[in-house]
Amino acid sequence: MNQKHTVFWLRRDLRLDDNAGLYHALKNHILPHGQKLLPLFIFDTEILNKLEDKNDARVHFIHDTLSEIRNQLQDLKIPLVVLHGNPKTVLSELFDQIEVSAVVTNHDYEPSAIERDKVIEALCKKRGIAFETFKDQCLFEKSEVTKDDGKPYTVFTPYKNKWLKHLQPYYYEGYPSLKLCKEYAATLTSPAQLPKKITQPLTLSDIGFEPTSIRLPPRAIRTSILKSYDKNRNFPALDGTSRLGIHLRFGTLSIRKCVDIALKTNDTWLSELIWRDFFMQILWHFPHVTNGPFRPEYSRIRWRQSEKDFEAWCQGKTGYAMVDAGMRELNATGHMHNRVRMVTASFLTKHLLIDWRMGERYFARHLLDFDLSANNGNWQWAAGTGCDAAPYFRVFNPDEQFKKFDSKGEYV
Ligand code: FAD
Repeated sequence: MNQKHTVFWLRRDLRLDDNAGLYHALKNHILPHGQKLLPLFIFDTEILNKLEDKNDARVHFIHDTLSEIRNQLQDLKIPLVVLHGNPKTVLSELFDQIEVSAVVTNHDYEPSAIERDKVIEALCKKRGIAFETFKDQCLFEKSEVTKDDGKPYTVFTPYKNKWLKHLQPYYYEGYPSLKLCKEYAATLTSPAQLPKKITQPLTLSDIGFEPTSIRLPPRAIRTSILKSYDKNRNFPALDGTSRLGIHLRFGTLSIRKCVDIALKTNDTWLSELIWRDFFMQILWHFPHVTNGPFRPEYSRIRWRQSEKDFEAWCQGKTGYAMVDAGMRELNATGHMHNRVRMVTASFLTKHLLIDWRMGERYFARHLLDFDLSANNGNWQWAAGTGCDAAPYFRVFNPDEQFKKFDSKGEYV
């Protein structure tokens, strides 16, 4: 117990390069004070126990990504610790086994994550351990982009304009965290001496999961696709969007890098990345959206209850070609094209008159890129209950959408 460690806790930021928290852990604790770096990931049972499918593709994705990170770290003689359990219990046990002086991690804006972090911060305080967090997941967070009076924006276009006004290169220049890792590794005479129990890799079955049969999208940023993004993005039969959703969701790709590329390639793609920040700040300022409509006046809508219609929608058996194709795409691949997400969401809420929260839950279960803020924000947008939403009387006509965006029926 004589060597002090700084734990870098990986969560939605599963990469070594351009990682704000990792950079600060190395810069503030490890390099100046000669401490050991201990990268850690916890398969959180509070989250895993709620997943309905044992072959959930996202768990498989995380597991594969951790193997890649482990290999990268192994070359640098840095261990990766992967644990399974409730974070408070797991961290308490870790603190009993090795001497930890700081836990460093990146911000998470979801209400349950905020609660978890409060618990961990209190635990660290009790044990005399520093707990530090950094912005990494989005370009602008919390109240960085607000109206002149400091109030949060609830309409996208003025938010976007202010976002663009705020933008300076240093916001997206990136953090040389991998370079610092290498510098640190070069000074390492021996790998950290850790109890064997905590360094052993966990298999998927160790955490109660099975491999997926779904193909996971590669991490490549395809600039040739991005260059024509504005022309092709609405046509679901085309390979016209980035397909980077899962990588932005789990941080296998840095948002700063994406913004840098968007600025050089396509303004429309940049706008989509700004929508992502927009819904993240909505969730941060208005956490009530996770339980009900953003606009309280819509909480008394009496939705139709029809198990049969809902089931037909889920299975892609409504009889509306574009709706059915979208739901089948989702069920088979974990992805659905954005245009079709809008059509299927509108169909559920405005044709079938079924509560948007049922659709939101179904998407959350199946989308590889499921993200609470984006999913909730877009569902509320489609249902007309959210901020900056289409009015409740605006209905997407699934047949017109089909004619306009898939006229030859290629996607369907
Ligand atoms: P691209 O079109 O290449 O866009 C790049 C990135 O920008 C996306 O990966 C995503 O991170 C972000 N982005 C794009 N559009 C939006 C948007 N409208 N809102 C917020 N972020 C956006 N997106 C999610 O990331 N997670 C979700 O859970 C999610 N649920 C949705 C539910 C509904 C009902 C609707 C209508 C849209 C939803 N979206 C969601 C937004 C959008 O459909 C997806 O981000 C996009 O289709 C993903 O494909 P792509 O990676 O090729 O994105």
